[in-house]
Amino acid sequence: MISASGPGTGPALEAHVYRVPLRTRFRGIDVRDGVLVRGPAGWGEFSPFWDYDDAESCRWWAAAREAAVEGFPAPLRSSVPVNVTVPAVGPERAHEIVTSSGCRTAKVKVADPGRPAADDLARVEAVRDALGADGAIRVDANGAWDVDTAVARIRELDRAVGLEYVEQPCPTLPELAALRRRIEVRIAADEVLRRSADPLRVQLADACDVVVLKAQPLGGVRAALRVAEAHGLPCVVSSALESSVGIGAGVALAAALPELPFACGLATVALFTGDVSSAPLLPVDGALPVTRPEPDRLAELAADPETDARWRARMARVRAMTGTTP
Ligand SMILES: [Mg+2]
Repeated sequence: MISASGPGTGPALEAHVYRVPLRTRFRGIDVRDGVLVRGPAGWGEFSPFWDYDDAESCRWWAAAREAAVEGFPAPLRSSVPVNVTVPAVGPERAHEIVTSSGCRTAKVKVADPGRPAADDLARVEAVRDALGADGAIRVDANGAWDVDTAVARIRELDRAVGLEYVEQPCPTLPELAALRRRIEVRIAADEVLRRSADPLRVQLADACDVVVLKAQPLGGVRAALRVAEAHGLPCVVSSALESSVGIGAGVALAAALPELPFACGLATVALFTGDVSSAPLLPVDGALPVTRPEPDRLAELAADPETDARWRARMARVRAMTGTTP
């Protein structure tokens, strides 16, 4: 256990650093790590990716603090439909991941750097085969394409398997807006929202049809609900690849949204080789229950001293920047 207190950062919250290898490289990482903090309202997760600087990580701390100190708003539903997430793997592995998930919607990573377009096509075709004709397929390009490339790739993938939507095909809002005038497939905005300085005021109207909400990067469940309200577009909740504690915040967000028209990207604990809870938030029949798992396996997933110290220092800096007590 480490103490999360420091000068000017308020009382200590019990804090534990976890570290867990991924089954398959995802989002450029092989290992996920982060801090779990316990406060009067329960457990929260602070796990900004290492490519987020301290200023960007302040909203992630606000989310952890909300979970630990305030708790979550009342749920409007008791379970949340979820998609299986398919990393940039080969077609056989993609088929296996979908079949074993029990989910009726798949989100497939595409446009992985250095891989040919034919790999994406083979992957989504394997996913269609595994889901059958009535399953839904969405793809996520993480902003990798320019507009012309996006038009060509999306048309090809949509013709082959039919797409529910394409998530963040191009990096910027003007590109998304230009692309949206040229394709029929719905566009979902992710990075343009969660990495913006002010997610409430980003002008999404002409750039997308669906908004991806992530509890940690948007500053918590309540902050994400305000973002949803500000944009007035259909929303889907996704994870930031958290442990079951952080996923619990995503589930609370999905459970509190007035409308939930799409399956959510919250089944990502399946990408980990283990979890902090002996009752991990993994889908059963394509849905997650609205619960907050207890991290009772912290000892097994405890980080090495160097990682532990890095997180403790990072959390102290970010807490000092936010000035929250605790
Ligand atoms: Mg995304």
